[in-house]
Amino acid sequence: MTEAMHQVLIVEDEPAIRTVLKVLLEAEHYRVIEAENAMRAEIESRSHKPDLLLLDLGLPDADGLAIIRRVRAWSPVPIIVLSARTQEEQKIAALDAGADDYVAKPFSAAELLARVRAALRRNVRASERTGPLRLGEVRIDLQMRAASGTHGPIHLTPLEYRVLEALARNLGAIVTQQQLIREVWGPERLGDTRGLRVCIMNLRAKVEADPRKPRYLLTEAGLGYRLLAEDGAPA
Ligand code: CA
Repeated sequence: MTEAMHQVLIVEDEPAIRTVLKVLLEAEHYRVIEAENAMRAEIESRSHKPDLLLLDLGLPDADGLAIIRRVRAWSPVPIIVLSARTQEEQKIAALDAGADDYVAKPFSAAELLARVRAALRRNVRASERTGPLRLGEVRIDLQMRAASGTHGPIHLTPLEYRVLEALARNLGAIVTQQQLIREVWGPERLGDTRGLRVCIMNLRAKVEADPRKPRYLLTEAGLGYRLLAEDGAPA
């Protein structure tokens, strides 16, 4: 199992939660490093170069967002934020600052481990992705700008391709509305979510079997969107 060697840094000030996370991860053969505050997180992440950060946003000595920005300044390491369900704005801010995903507390063990596996897999594959995306029967070649389904070619607009590209770069992870707007429409359109919503609606009509019950182009309520797809590169 290749995951056996992955090293995870847990940044969490509550000892009980840290212990639960450590037990869970070690049972799956991850190596675990612990940090109880932001200062330790900085030291441990620089000295151990972990493969993944599990980061609690509420720390005694610093804002978790500050940690994300500091780490992002020098490392693309996947960061999964642990946050309470009620902290919507904090979640968005964390994702905009460069976190890859979040898991809401209280979390289920299965969900947490699935997110950890996905983040590690994404990190390995991000540089290797070459083939078309597969969304069920639909294939989308972002490089060739070609798409097809069971009934033949599907026409996507340049805007739709760009939204898909932004989502595909973070395959399986949440991309916030603001990230998508900044990347596709430009920073001067931040706050104007209507164009994005219309674009997503049109995309769903083209690529989802049932656009009202999307299976691939998912809405994360209040946060953004998540693209689930197989990439064409060999697993
Ligand atoms: Ca805390």
